[in-house]
Amino acid sequence: MITIDNFNFENKKALIRVDFNVPLNDDFEVTDATRIHAARPTIIKVLEDGGSCVLMSHMGRPKGEVRPGLSLKHIEKAVDDILGVDVRFIDATVGPKAEEAAASLKPGEVLMLENLRFHAEETKGDEHFAKQLSKLGDIYVNDAFGTAHRAHASTTIAAKFFLENKCFGYLLAKEIESIKKVMESGEKPVLAVLGGAKVSSKITIIENILDKVDHMIIGGGMTYTFVKAQGGQIGDSICEDDKQELALEILQKAKEKNVQIHLPVDVKAADDFSNGANTQIVAVDQIPEGWQGLDAGPRSFENFKQVVLESKTILWNGPMGVFEFENFADGTIALGNFIAEATEKGAFSLVGGGDSVAAVKQFGFQDKVSYVSTGGGAMLESLEGKTLPGIAAILG
Ligand code: AMP
Repeated sequence: MITIDNFNFENKKALIRVDFNVPLNDDFEVTDATRIHAARPTIIKVLEDGGSCVLMSHMGRPKGEVRPGLSLKHIEKAVDDILGVDVRFIDATVGPKAEEAAASLKPGEVLMLENLRFHAEETKGDEHFAKQLSKLGDIYVNDAFGTAHRAHASTTIAAKFFLENKCFGYLLAKEIESIKKVMESGEKPVLAVLGGAKVSSKITIIENILDKVDHMIIGGGMTYTFVKAQGGQIGDSICEDDKQELALEILQKAKEKNVQIHLPVDVKAADDFSNGANTQIVAVDQIPEGWQGLDAGPRSFENFKQVVLESKTILWNGPMGVFEFENFADGTIALGNFIAEATEKGAFSLVGGGDSVAAVKQFGFQDKVSYVSTGGGAMLESLEGKTLPGIAAILG
């Protein structure tokens, strides 16, 4: 893998695609700077080599229009503080103003361009726009995993104008390595924990990883399609009736491939989809009418604990229940604790994709697992087995 470590940036300008798509409050202050911190090591390496950086990012969805509320000038101070460098922001992304600013950069200096998505050409993957961007640096560095699944001008198309002078930043390299560790070179037994609402949104992942794992825990709302397909009574639980056939096929395929599937055996059922609902613990296949399973039950926790603690490589995607409701977060918290314990014992654990990251942060597990991915959609597509365009552009 060609990473930033393969280059010496002395007297060179690095054009770095970062993911500074950070949330702002009503006063335009950064409320979560995780993504800026995540890009820091790459930027610092360039500066310590004696190079300079041109940072490009998107923020929000301005859809090709200049939206002052989404200007990157709002994050200039936060970037200054985190990098410990006086970053220069310009209100241009391409064109003479951007080219002049880039040309005047001295070693040790950092320039930040205006929001890429103020230009509709960015998300269209426009070649001319990408070429204009490419004039701003000598070496192209992609460090934005969050947008690596998009064939946008700055994430993919720009790479082709740099021939050999392109590489992954540290963050993107780490994401790629973590996925590889789970999907290709994970120490056995390999376990995937899949939760979330629907089978339909996870089906491609399930099919892709059946070849790579020894155990699969299926929890969350997906549970009930599997249980109903096998003749269980699921009451009013969430279910995709048109996916029952598929659920049975998955169970059959898993058997053929010798993958053990673990579903909850009991659930915390509620008489309403709300935190304050009445609850009862029932067998997963005997949920009464008028009740719906919103979390795994205690006997399920015990089974999951055993599987998790025996695993050496663990992928976690999707919550075990409706964790947004405090009364139905126990399954997700229990699972997080088991994964944390397994990690402490030496397992490699990767958390990624959508809501599982939110759950991990909400319950404070981020420092207790091996790696928390920074990309939602990009991680999901990687787990589906797709080659992300932003990654292919560097490798190709
Ligand atoms: P996903 O984005 O596919 O990972 O789905 C995450 C969502 O699934 C979360 O918002 C959970 O509240 C929801 N979810 C998990 N378990 C259930 C359940 N038993 N019934 C309904 N929704 C659920």
